[in-house]
Amino acid sequence: MNTLFKINGLELLLNRFPVSNDANLQAWDASDEYVLSHVNDLALQSANILLINDTFGALACALHAHNLYWQSDSYIGRSACQKNLEDNQLTPNINYLNSLEQPTNALDLVLIKLPKSTAMLAHQLQQLRQVINKDTIVIGFAKAKDVHNSGIKLFEKFIGETTTSLAKKKSRLIFASVNNEQTSSDENAQLVQWPLAKHNFTITNYAGVFANTQLDIGAQLMLENIPTDLDDAFVIDLGCGNGVLGLSVAALNEDAKIRFTDESFMAIASAKLNAQNNFEQQSRFEFDWHDCLSDYDYDQADLIICNPPFHQLKAVTDHIAWQMFNDAYRTLKHGGKLRIVGNRHLGYHIKLQRIFDNCTTIDSNGKFVILEATKY
Ligand code: SAM
Repeated sequence: MNTLFKINGLELLLNRFPVSNDANLQAWDASDEYVLSHVNDLALQSANILLINDTFGALACALHAHNLYWQSDSYIGRSACQKNLEDNQLTPNINYLNSLEQPTNALDLVLIKLPKSTAMLAHQLQQLRQVINKDTIVIGFAKAKDVHNSGIKLFEKFIGETTTSLAKKKSRLIFASVNNEQTSSDENAQLVQWPLAKHNFTITNYAGVFANTQLDIGAQLMLENIPTDLDDAFVIDLGCGNGVLGLSVAALNEDAKIRFTDESFMAIASAKLNAQNNFEQQSRFEFDWHDCLSDYDYDQADLIICNPPFHQLKAVTDHIAWQMFNDAYRTLKHGGKLRIVGNRHLGYHIKLQRIFDNCTTIDSNGKFVILEATKY
């Protein structure tokens, strides 16, 4: 549902992506309003602005008169931004960057919405330090409850002296002055590694990736239930994160071809690193930064394996699981199977039964269940 966002004399109709009919799920929050009204007071003209983590593109729409770099880890975020610009007939000079790309022009202003993980913030600030100069204005912003000392210390460590604003509408701004000394430019400093004993893999993760420091306990049960009879099957690891599920399929089925998909760029980059570091033959692997399996052809996959998310940002939601299961049904061949792991209380068997008209329990423990549905 489009909602009217009035800011700095503009009226913008904004939506989340995928479109949400829940009036409580707006495409912006009070911290966006706070930082935009602060930027208005700066009275910048045609500035070079880097927007980091502008969730659904509200800032890009409001600042369309400037030259924008728009950086996000999220495919959904980028799609939302593009759609909101289009719906408001705005055609700014905008360069889209994934979370591992860097702007090439000098920056006048950087606005960074605090990401949900401290590791991601550290990664982004360290990257940012390489592309700003002492004249760049750097402003962080978030709901006040998400502004912690640990985050402020990271601004001090990577950017320079840092202060915070008063809270307004339960939001806060963070002002960091750029000091003259650059910190290390080691772009891999924020990578985390852990061993996956079951297959003798070393798993490497970029900062923002799910199960960043250890195997997820749901995924652990799935690793006990990986099919071993797949021959030269085409398998999709849907919402692959660092790729542990798909890589385990690959380890147990040496002729299977695996496509890894995720809406997080760092997830795709991690899965690729893990395939390269743990397997010699790479031609059996493909990687796709994508929203679920939207636009995928019908009837192509033999197996889809999935540990679905049940959050979007901080909201608990089942709409991504619904989309994943419906997309999986379309993308599977007749006779193909979707195998998922989920928390028992989420009741995924009801969804699978409704979409596939069948659902079998493969395994379970006190907390998780492995379910399989076949497309007939
Ligand atoms: N498969 C990995 C594992 O088991 O450790 C990750 C599972 S994690 C619960 C869910 C994954 O789904 C995350 O990596 C998240 O980025 C991804 N995801 C969330 N929304 C998505 C979407 N709309 N399309 C594709 N992937 C999505």
